[in-house]
This record gives sequence, C-alpha cells and structure tokens, in this order.
Amino acid sequence: MNEAGPLDVGEEEGARLLTAAVDLVVRHAKEVAEGPVAPAEPGTAWLREWLASQDFEAARSPEDALPEVMAALRRWGVHTTHPRYFGLFNPTPTWWGVAGELLAAGVNPQLAAYSHAPAAVEMERHVLRFMAGRLGLPAGAEGSFTVGGAEANLTAVIVALTRRFPAYPRSGLAGLPRRPVLYASAESHLAWLKIAHMTGLGRDAVRLVPAGAAHRMDTERLREMREADLAAGLEPFLLVGTAGTTAGGALDPLPELAALAAEWGAHFHVDAAWAGAVALSDRLRPLLTGVELADSVTVDAHKWLSAPMGAGMFLTPHAAALAESFRATTSYMPAETEDAPDPYATSVQWSRRFAGLKVFLALAVAGRPAHAAQLERDVRLGERLARRLTEEGWLRINDTPLPVVCVTAPEAETAGPERSAAWHAAVAEHVVRSGQAWLSTVRLGGRPALRLCVTSHRTGVADLEAVVSALGDARKRMGT
Ligand SMILES: *Cc1c(COP(=O)(O)O)cnc(C)c1O
Repeated sequence: MNEAGPLDVGEEEGARLLTAAVDLVVRHAKEVAEGPVAPAEPGTAWLREWLASQDFEAARSPEDALPEVMAALRRWGVHTTHPRYFGLFNPTPTWWGVAGELLAAGVNPQLAAYSHAPAAVEMERHVLRFMAGRLGLPAGAEGSFTVGGAEANLTAVIVALTRRFPAYPRSGLAGLPRRPVLYASAESHLAWLKIAHMTGLGRDAVRLVPAGAAHRMDTERLREMREADLAAGLEPFLLVGTAGTTAGGALDPLPELAALAAEWGAHFHVDAAWAGAVALSDRLRPLLTGVELADSVTVDAHKWLSAPMGAGMFLTPHAAALAESFRATTSYMPAETEDAPDPYATSVQWSRRFAGLKVFLALAVAGRPAHAAQLERDVRLGERLARRLTEEGWLRINDTPLPVVCVTAPEAETAGPERSAAWHAAVAEHVVRSGQAWLSTVRLGGRPALRLCVTSHRTGVADLEAVVSALGDARKRMGT
C-alpha cells in the first residue's frame, strides 16, 4: 500500500464532498426562482472583505467552505438560471449538461491527442457530425469544440486565411501582397474586432456593413464597400453572415451572401452562435436556409441548447484546411492515429477539457425531439411576450421570428436618442433592482431600446406576465 499523499483524501471524503456540492446545486435550482434575479445593490465591499480573509494558508473544513462559496455566488451575481432572466442567451443548464460536466471533470480525459482519449474524441466528433448534418453541411465535415462562439469565430478567421492565402501559414500577413479585409454586418457580434486585433489583421480590417430592413445586412452596401476596397488595393477574403444577431435576432440573407462569397472567391462563414440551435427543429430549421452552403459555421451549445458554459462548436466542410491551420508535431506528443485527427492539431487549444460530453449526454438522454420542442416552445413564448408588450403600448423595433424582443416607449423617444437611451436605461435598472426580472438595454441601428430574450427552459407564461407588469410599473414611475 502506498502512503497517501497530502492531497489524497480518499474516495469516502470525495463522495461526501460531491454529495454536499450536489445538495447545494439542487437547493439553488429549487430556491433561485423565489429570490431576486439580480442583487439589489451592486456593491461588492462585503465580497472583497470575505476574500481578504481567504489567504489559503490554513486548511478548512468543506462544510464551512462550500456553503460560503455558494452563498457568495448566490448573493453577488445575476442569476442566469432564474426563469425571469430575459438576458444574454446564458441558459439555465439542463441537468444532463450539469451531470456531463461532473463526469468530464471526474474522469478528466486529455483531449489533445486522439490516442489518449479515443472515446471522448469520438463522442465529440459524433456530436459535431450530428450538428453538421442537421445544418445540412456535406458529409465529411469536421470541427472542434471551443470555449465559446468567440473562439469558434477566431478559428474561422484562421481557417479562412489559410484556405485563401497559401503564403499565410509560413509568412503570415507580411507575406501577402495586399491587406486582407473581412465583411460582417454592423449588427454582428463585435468579437470580430478582437479577433482582427489578435490575428494581426488589425481592427480596421473589419468592414462593418450597415444593416438594412429588419436589421439584416444590406447587400447593396456590401457590394459598394467591396468595390471601394478593391479599388483601394485591399483583399476581401472573408464574408460573415450572422444568423441570429446578438442584439435583435436578425437573420442575414444567407443564400445571397453564399452566392456573393462564391462569386468573389471569399470564405463564407455563418455565425449562428445563438440561433444555430434551431437546426435541431424540423419546423424552425428553414430559418437557417443557406447555412448548408457555408465554408464554416459557429454554433454555441451553451446558448440556446442549454448546455453549461464552455461549449462552442466550430464546423467546416474543409477538413483539410482545418488540419492545415493548426498542424503541429512535437517529440513528446503521441503519434497520430490514422483517420483520426488529433484535437490539438485541429483546434486553437492544446490540452482541452471534454466539453462535448455535456452536449452528448443531453442529446443521448433527452433526445433531439425534446430539444426541438423546447426551442419551439421558446419561440411561442417570444411571440407571446412581443404581443403582450405591444398590447401594453410598447413599440417593438426588431423583426425576427426568434424569441428576442426589443421595445421602446414611444413617449420617451421624442426627446432624441440620448435622452431616450437614459430613459430606457433607467427603466431597465428599475426592473433589475426590483429583483423581478433581468433584461438589458440595447441599441438597434443606433436606436436605444429595451431587450428581452427568452433563454431559460424554466421560463413560462407567468414569468412573461411578471416582466410585463414590472416594466409597466417602471414606466409609470418614470413618466417622461
Ligand atoms: C454570443 C455570441 C458570440 C460569442 O460567443 P461566446 O460563446 O460568448 O464566446 C458570437 N456571435 C454571436 C452571434 C453571439 O450571439
């Protein structure tokens, strides 16, 4: 028998700890809906004081430490698992997803090399191929799990540069005769700016195309901008269509963008981080028409598929370009397995957690049809929320079948955009401080508004009525 190491407290202690953690999580799920969605005062003095006492020098009993941590999380945070969190796509995770996280952490497979974790890698590939199939991508599509949509979009830029410019892998941007630029809608997710910064393209390389009707990319303007860029000696290499913009759920005209990208020889990426989930529903899938023509696609399982955070997906029919983009060989990594790419050589990451298990488990246990039914239910709730707000005199300013509703109070808009922004921000703050609901402010095409998104599978009709009523109270208090 080995002598136990200082961190080896044994399985019995482990079981006690995990049981206590499970109890806390289950209790949180039970109680969260009864409390405020967000803390009334955002001050964090108490939090800092508590942390100052944590110098990590003395061991503590988990019976003290665990509830303390949980109390801090519950007291000082916006509760994305609350049924009246009408927020930024952070879902209430499903139990299958939470269980998947626990299993992945406990077994802790190393997903860098295939030969180290064939079961884990193949389960992830199975989910990625399932998703690619639902999206209509050609057979042979590959991909990778990412931390989130931002990393998936970064992957898209690297793959696009690699596909488009043979000199790029070795010489980088310095090896290109002209400066590459990419196009995305002004309503797209602005991680594109960070990505351009990180990849050396530079932020100016992101050409934000104004949105037209329904906040979709204006393709006339896109053509004009490309002409001007070509005339200025720039090199358009990537066209991004957003399927479900973050602010207002706008769906860019994907078939038209696919045709333009093909005509121009540009890589066509579809950022469907949020709305890509609808591929699981036969009824909603047509919203994504054109995505099957994409050279790459981003879908976040940790948004509308209700996986816990850290489950982005990058998908591409160009498996060879993906492998070329991240190829690496080392003396210390295990040798490659035939027909099984090593994840570290097809991904931004190296050592990587088994992010796909939570998605695999949710699909394997609940099944695709239950996920589809949930998405369809959320869409119906979104329609109902839009109708109720309109009945109460709010003006809906976004136009999408997706369950995100952006509204303004017409009486507050007459004083100009700056006054309107302050007014709508004050209304949102009033509702959030009341603890009744969480919603955000947004600007759509520059126009200040309130934004409500149905994003929790625990949200129901009573929650919609509660937020409508809380907004009515705030509006009354504010006057104009
Ligand atoms: C959320 C979102 C992203 C970023 O994804 P993360 O998972 O937060 O990294 C990118 N694009 C769109 C359209 C999004 O909604």
